[in-house]
Amino acid sequence: MSPGPDRYAVLGHPIAHSLSPEIHHAFARATGESISYQAIDVSPERFDDFWRHGEGRELRGANITLPLKVLARDLADRLSPAARETGSVNTLIPIRNGWYGDTTDGIGLIRDLDRLGWSLAARRILIIGAGGAGRGIAFPVARSGPRELVIANRTADRAQQLADDLGRTGLTARGCGLDELQNLEPVDGLLHASAAGHGGQLQLPVSLLQVRTWCYDLSYGEAAQPFMRWAREAGATRVSDGLGMLVEQAAESFFLWRGVRPETAPVLAMLLAMLRDRSG
Ligand code: NAP
Repeated sequence: MSPGPDRYAVLGHPIAHSLSPEIHHAFARATGESISYQAIDVSPERFDDFWRHGEGRELRGANITLPLKVLARDLADRLSPAARETGSVNTLIPIRNGWYGDTTDGIGLIRDLDRLGWSLAARRILIIGAGGAGRGIAFPVARSGPRELVIANRTADRAQQLADDLGRTGLTARGCGLDELQNLEPVDGLLHASAAGHGGQLQLPVSLLQVRTWCYDLSYGEAAQPFMRWAREAGATRVSDGLGMLVEQAAESFFLWRGVRPETAPVLAMLLAMLRDRSG
């Protein structure tokens, strides 16, 4: 009997609306790799059991999303430098007798900004959010040589902690609370990495923006709409959601598992068409 395709999955809670299965199946079709990929709902309480006694034992690799990225870091037997410094894991890769944990969120963002032609080097950059995503992008953003990097978070201490962690690796950033944003000079690039779009309220001063400021929301779908609407109403002409980052971080995971780098542009175009069909 044939063993069937290698099994991969994205784990999260909730996970029903994940686009990752579509993305990885498209990569597999384009590269001729034989894989199956499914979304599996695993609560934090069941996470250990899933790997010890459940379906986890049959997987050849996994993506990890909210709220499991820190648990995945703790599960991993070895961590990549990026996973160690950000403290979160979104990709598990099998190694002898265990798992190697990596995070591809940072590289996903950098590649998508590249695609858009939006620069970080020598620019004044503001990151809003210091949770898993904020931490995941802060290190590669700081390494891209911005003129100034500010990290603002609802809980100011968390932004300060992230700025301190960056400082310990020789990178420079300033942490602050959201209330301090009204005193900030306009920035060149604004990265929205908070989860406020999932039902919360985020009031940002329009004084953060100038005509050429680009505004990027790491969220996509409905969750990205409040920030993107705010940015457009405030006059920004370069505004994007995080769908491209989602595809790029997935491509890097696929490469880590299969050793083959899929093309991302056709898959992003497919997703955009799919989402347009669904909404209209
Ligand atoms: P997380 O670890 O739970 O962190 C949530 C962050 O949002 C924290 O900084 C939190 O501030 C802030 N926050 C939550 N509600 C808020 C509100 N009402 N007002 C202001 N700030 C609020 O989540 P995460 O992993 O960082 O994810 C954040 C977003 O990034 C999600 O929408 C996720 O989908 C997106 N993301 C996208 C990709 C991609 O590939 N495109 C990858 C990763 C994440 P406190 O510290 O004060 O709680």
